[in-house]
Amino acid sequence: MKTIFKIATVALAATAAISSYADSTYPAAGKTITIIVPFTAGGPTDKVARDLAESMRKQLGNATIVIDNADGAGSTIGIGKAARARNDGYTLLLTHIAMSTIPTLYRKLPFNVLNDFEYAGIINDVPMTLIGRPTLPAKNFAEVKDWVGKNQGKVNLANAGIGSASHLCGLMFQAALQNDMTPVPYKGAAPAIADLMGNQVDLLCDQTTNTTSQIAAKKVQAYAVTTAKPLTTPALKDLPTLQSLGLKDFNVTIWHGLYAPKGTPAEVVQKINEAMKTSLKDPEFIKRQEALGAVIATDDRINPAGHKKFVEAEIAKWGKVIKAAGTYAD
Ligand code: ASP
Repeated sequence: MKTIFKIATVALAATAAISSYADSTYPAAGKTITIIVPFTAGGPTDKVARDLAESMRKQLGNATIVIDNADGAGSTIGIGKAARARNDGYTLLLTHIAMSTIPTLYRKLPFNVLNDFEYAGIINDVPMTLIGRPTLPAKNFAEVKDWVGKNQGKVNLANAGIGSASHLCGLMFQAALQNDMTPVPYKGAAPAIADLMGNQVDLLCDQTTNTTSQIAAKKVQAYAVTTAKPLTTPALKDLPTLQSLGLKDFNVTIWHGLYAPKGTPAEVVQKINEAMKTSLKDPEFIKRQEALGAVIATDDRINPAGHKKFVEAEIAKWGKVIKAAGTYAD
């Protein structure tokens, strides 16, 4: 009995030693943390990642954090790369709502979004805006509807690939208008909005973190916001909601979250979560996010369990919408 107790005590002490070792050494001096962003540089997901990395760096002893834009295939290339990465806390993944749409949109995925990752927490919620090229003859949403109706089959709708936020929003927009548009996929929203500004494509639905400054500078035409309530951001506050324009139940908000490959030590994930939580309370970070229409996530989702529970609910929610739209990718 005594021996068993002794062994248990030694085992407990060893576990505690390992935990505190992991706690105090991550991130090790001189080691670089890479955050994989599965979309192009300069787009909304990339901007959130760079902004968060800048703030988290300070919480992690001035660690070097680099962004790896592993773009393509609607984010599935980058997410796959993160799933296969070493689970030591030095490779993370920052991505958005795609974590909940791709399980339904893709018939086959080389990873499992629920089983192959450790969840660190949700970062923010970002509304979307429906925007058009500068030369589009429609000046407001009623005119967009009219123009789209008259140009059946000829309208180009840009997106960041199957599974992206812009793709999801575009699917819902086409279903609501009962109009089939030609999807023009990019590897991220940065090249999509560049082509929209250059009049190469007609319409794009994208996060306000990408569109606010272009709307303010009048480099694109803005027609509506995708949230149930109007926004307060100065450049966006006069935009009507799609719901108020008759698109019943249209309510899309894009959330971003931080992940680590499955098996990353719990102490390390906890340390990442703590650094992230501190960053999300940083008034400078909050100010920068709010200026672009983003809202910091609610506390119940800025933790591993709350994050995972939320993604599970989102998979169920968007699964129904996507199945109703009948779009799949192989
Ligand atoms: N906002 C893009 C999307 O449509 C992706 C990106 O962040 O570049 O999902």
